[in-house]
Formats: sequence, structure tokens, C-alpha cells
Amino acid sequence: MNLQHKIPQATARRLPLYYRFLSNLHNQGKTRVSSKELSDAVKVDSATIRRDFSYFGALGKKGYGYNVDYLLEFFKTTLAHDEMTEVALVGVGNLGTALLNYNFSRNNNTKLAMAFDRSKQKAGTFIGGVPIYHIDDLEEKIGDVEVVILTVPASAAQEIADRIVQQGVKGIVNFTPARLTLPEDVRIHHIDLSVELQSFVYFLKNYPL
Ligand code: ATP
Repeated sequence: MNLQHKIPQATARRLPLYYRFLSNLHNQGKTRVSSKELSDAVKVDSATIRRDFSYFGALGKKGYGYNVDYLLEFFKTTLAHDEMTEVALVGVGNLGTALLNYNFSRNNNTKLAMAFDRSKQKAGTFIGGVPIYHIDDLEEKIGDVEVVILTVPASAAQEIADRIVQQGVKGIVNFTPARLTLPEDVRIHHIDLSVELQSFVYFLKNYPL
């Protein structure tokens, strides 16, 4: 079942949030959940939750709520949770190291499989159980990896992007401030922590709650 093209992107973005909360409920032995409970936990208003869930064919019953197992099964398939996506990271500096140590252990459908750096000292070591290879070995080692996290300096980002795209990478999570030029079929997400923080402070100051 692949409904990813049928559900709106905004809904799709909330799926991992729902999934994590419902997994916790399931582990606690809960079989049902109300949209109010969900709403409080994931901080999404209940009207939005009801609309999101209607795309999944999960219609809550008044006084009963939603069936946890049904939803979990749905999310597992939709998020392809039984299909492991291997991810590589390029640039094992401060941020890259932190991400390797974190290793997304709460998330069981992605796995940081390898990392690359130009430092000869770092190559051949492991961080958080992930092997670090020299960047010169990228083409040899990257294999079928389709997703890459970029934590190199901005000045190196385009060159690395060109190389990984050449190897068949289809998705880039770009932690550098560099704007990259990529083929149309490559998807990119920008995560710029300093911009996030700046805009947060701006909102905090200009739009008091
Ligand atoms: P550090 O304190 O380890 O330098 P940092 O995050 O402040 O961390 P950056 O200059 O942003 O350092 O570099 C991040 C990492 O990217 C470093 O480990 C660096 O060796 C690596 N790096 C820089 N250029 C390249 C490149 N062209 N290819 C691969 N790795 C690179």
C-alpha cells in the first residue's frame, strides 16, 4: 500500500510524530486513543488530526477514539518502517559527530550506515558504531545509499553534492547554509540551525504569546 502520493504533504510530515506517540501507547498496552489525547501529546489541534486520519481511512468513533493497532499498522506500511533506508553522512566535524553519536536510534527505518571525511585521522575510525571512510573512497564505498546528510563546510557542499548525485543519491539533508544546484529528481531538505534559532528569537520578540 503506497498512499504517499494521495495524502497531502503537510499530513505526511506529521506521520512520524503520530507514529512515535502511537508506538509508545502500544508499548504501554493501550488499544485506543482519543483525538484529544493525541492532540495534547503531539501539539496538533484535534480538527487537523481528524482530517489527517480520515486520509488513512481511520475514522474515530465517538466515545471510543481511534484504534491504536490499526493506525500503527497503517503507519508502518506507509512510512515503510519494515524497509530500512541506509543513510551516509559527509563531514565528521562537531555537528556530524553529534549526529553520528545520536544515530537516530528512536527511528527504526533509517540507519546511518557510513560516514566520510577528508581528515586522514578520522578515516578508519568509528563513531557511534558507524565506520568513517576517507572522502577519496566515497565512490568505492557508497554503494546503494540513496540519502546523504551533508555536514561539511558550506564551501565544500556543492562539490560533494555533485559527487554523490553522480553515485545515484536521490535525497540530501543539507545542514550547510550553501544553496545547492542539483538535478530536478534529487530532493533536498535544508536544515540551518542558526537560521532556525534566529527566526525563533525574532518571533519570540515580535509576536509575544
Ligand atoms: P571541527 O571542529 O571538527 O573542524 P566543524 O564542524 O567546526 O568541526 P567544519 O569546518 O565545519 O568543522 O568541517 C566539518 C567537517 O567536514 C570536518 O571534519 C572536515 O574535516 C570535513 N570536511 C571539510 N571539507 C571536506 C570535504 N571536501 N570532504 C569531506 N569532508 C570535509
